[in-house]
Amino acid sequence: MAEIIDGNAIADEIKAEIVAETEKLKAKGLAPGIATLLVGDDFGSKMYRGQVEKNCESVGFNYIEKTLPAETTEEEVIQIVKELNEDPAVSGILPLRPYPEHISDSAVIRNIREDKDIDCFHPANMGRLLLGEPTLAPATPSACIELLDRVGVEFEGAEIVVVGHSNIVGKPVAMLALNRNATISVTHIFTSQAGNLEKHTTGADILIVAAGKAGLITPDQVKDGAVVIDVGINRVKVLDDEGNPVLNDKGKPKTKTVGDVDFDAVKDKAKAITPVPGGVGAVTNMMLLKNALTAAKMQAGMD
Ligand code: NAP
Repeated sequence: MAEIIDGNAIADEIKAEIVAETEKLKAKGLAPGIATLLVGDDFGSKMYRGQVEKNCESVGFNYIEKTLPAETTEEEVIQIVKELNEDPAVSGILPLRPYPEHISDSAVIRNIREDKDIDCFHPANMGRLLLGEPTLAPATPSACIELLDRVGVEFEGAEIVVVGHSNIVGKPVAMLALNRNATISVTHIFTSQAGNLEKHTTGADILIVAAGKAGLITPDQVKDGAVVIDVGINRVKVLDDEGNPVLNDKGKPKTKTVGDVDFDAVKDKAKAITPVPGGVGAVTNMMLLKNALTAAKMQAGMD
């Protein structure tokens, strides 16, 4: 039976460190702050906005909300970004995507000051990551590395297989691990379609899965004693023992959140595994705050 890596407990540890460092910075007259930039009313983005506001409050950061109507033009959004770039109360800017179709994500991101790009999507920050000199690293990939570090996993020479090659998770986590001298394989949908996924995953000492497909990773795809980091977040129906949907009080199917890994089966084979929820997600929130702290220090010339 694997060690269940407790993301909530690790997130609490990191939060305590952030609170302590924030207090020290405030004593020197420096208060970190995060501005969210939402255009329109995407439900997921609004939920995330509320979460970021709550997280900022919980560690003593300033929080600045910019919510603009869906019909705001790209030029107007970029003007707001430029104002936030100049605002000393804002250490980090978080664009809450998706944006309406008439606004180019990359136009917004390229206008964020590199040292306020706490999501690390600016090409300059992605480039630094590739060169092994990241100043700010993207939150979810950093959370995977932080979790592994805090449970004492060695990177040097380890075989790490990443499932998923998105710009948000798969590619940057592969780069972060490569920068730590692990041996990296990055797999994706074409690996699966070629029937080669298992060939790679069964060789992994550390398996990092970020595909967004519930149940993608089963025990036969995992090496005995591997460490498994499940990034996926999927809503699935709750089924009874016969495989039928369980209904709620309103007669609708009950749902639950699961990762990409068949947790109950894989936990008997792995050495350690992150659950969903309670794994990567909790730590991701803290890594975003850590980035804002780093950004505040960089802007004050303290790093
Ligand atoms: P994404 O942009 O949809 O990327 C998914 C990746 O998985 C793509 O590279 C895709 O390949 C690959 N893939 C899809 N099906 C596959 C299969 N059957 N076999 C192998 N590879 C497959 O998603 P994302 O933004 O990277 O997010 C991935 C998951 O992590 C999602 O469930 C998301 O909700 C979750 N997530 C969690 C956090 C957190 O904090 N916990 C943060 C961000 C994302 P192709 O591109 O070639 O199709």
